[in-house]
Amino acid sequence: LSEKLDKALHSLKGHGKINEVNVAETLKEVRRALLDADVNFKIAKQFTNSVKEKAIGQDVLTTLNPGQLMVKIVKDELTELMGGDTVGINLGGSPTVILMSGLQGSGKTTFSGKLANYLKNKKTKQVLLVGCDVYRPAAINQLQVVGEQIGVEVYAEVGNQNPVEISQNAIKHAKANGKNVVIIDTAGRLAVDEEMMTEISNIHKAVTPNETLFVVDSMTGQDAVNTAKAFNDVLNFDGVVLTKLDGDTRGGAALSIKSVVDKPIKFIGTGEKMDAIDVFHPNRMADRILGMGDVVSLVERAQEQYDEAEARKLQKKIAKNQFGFDDFLNQIQQIKKMGSMKDLVGMIPGAGKALKDVDIDDDAFKGIEAIIRSMTPEERSKPSVINASRKKRIAKGSGTSVQEVNQLMKQFDQMSKMMKMMQGGGGKRMMQMMRG
Ligand code: GDP
Ligand code: MG
Repeated sequence: LSEKLDKALHSLKGHGKINEVNVAETLKEVRRALLDADVNFKIAKQFTNSVKEKAIGQDVLTTLNPGQLMVKIVKDELTELMGGDTVGINLGGSPTVILMSGLQGSGKTTFSGKLANYLKNKKTKQVLLVGCDVYRPAAINQLQVVGEQIGVEVYAEVGNQNPVEISQNAIKHAKANGKNVVIIDTAGRLAVDEEMMTEISNIHKAVTPNETLFVVDSMTGQDAVNTAKAFNDVLNFDGVVLTKLDGDTRGGAALSIKSVVDKPIKFIGTGEKMDAIDVFHPNRMADRILGMGDVVSLVERAQEQYDEAEARKLQKKIAKNQFGFDDFLNQIQQIKKMGSMKDLVGMIPGAGKALKDVDIDDDAFKGIEAIIRSMTPEERSKPSVINASRKKRIAKGSGTSVQEVNQLMKQFDQMSKMMKMMQGGGGKRMMQMMRG
């Protein structure tokens, strides 16, 4: 899709000359590109019409940069078509009950796990996954595997064929066991049928979910829209989850669903792994479709990967006793980014004690940077070479006292000892926290 739109917009982007004829040509191309991506015919037509209207309204033809303005109008219109703003899920209720609906194979079970993991990482959420796909024993098993992987309890009742009962019991179980989010994974069929609709509707009535999500495979194109309509007629769901938006993406479903059922897309699934979940951003999706590249997402992902690589490097250094002042400085900057040291210490099991007499407060950071910057590269990577005369030089260079240099040396020593000590079980956790 993006290639085609790119081509369609190309003539407008570069060349300054623009007239009514090539605006019309461009819009025709845009419409064809949308249709190719399985966008509903009516919606594609509506879309190009309203782009045209806006283009005329904003007097595209007389502006200095008509191409760019046109691209902006198309992008804004696409964003609007996909819902405009990002919409979150309702986490009210105690417990919050989230119901998954959708066809078999759409990705309900996988997404249930992803969402559980996503909420669990928000710390305040204690999640219970509920297996209501009672027809295939393998389905419950699949959910249990997912639960184990992410460390979330799975509620299931072997032998019970009544999903309404199971979900009601699960909510009781959640209340009794301090869970504040219940995610109910249900059975789907390969196509819309009455039995499935009755069943999901019965569960829906019995548990009155705070959030009912319709999960749909984005590769199914136009069918996705029909399925969405069928489920929405019965459930009046709150939001849509678009799965399998990884790899060869077709934007068609995203473009059409919102306008047909008038429900926001809330999440996207971008892979089989448990962390392949993203909040849906209409404007980013519009960028992607227009081939401008999903820059914001890319930057975020790159940042994540960078941090992970850094943490791994650091772990190796600690293991090999190569942890130096440059790393120390780096870590301090990470910690500063994360807020107060006290909170941090509180989060490390067992480390509170080790750090208690290490006097690192926010003010202490100020001089540290100056001191480390006055060290030579050799001194930074091999602190043991720092003798009395070097200390004197460093103090002078950084505008501090030998006493302060000594204090930093002591802090550094304790920190590296602690990190070494935590290389076992706690180390990983520490690294995770350092990453923020
Ligand atoms: P359910 O029948 O609705 O519960 O669907 P499942 O969760 O079992 O998913 C069906 C298949 O799609 C599985 O093989 C999943 O691994 C795969 N799947 C689910 N979500 C995604 C996704 O976002 N990307 C990709 N590539 N595969 C997915
Ligand atoms: Mg399933």
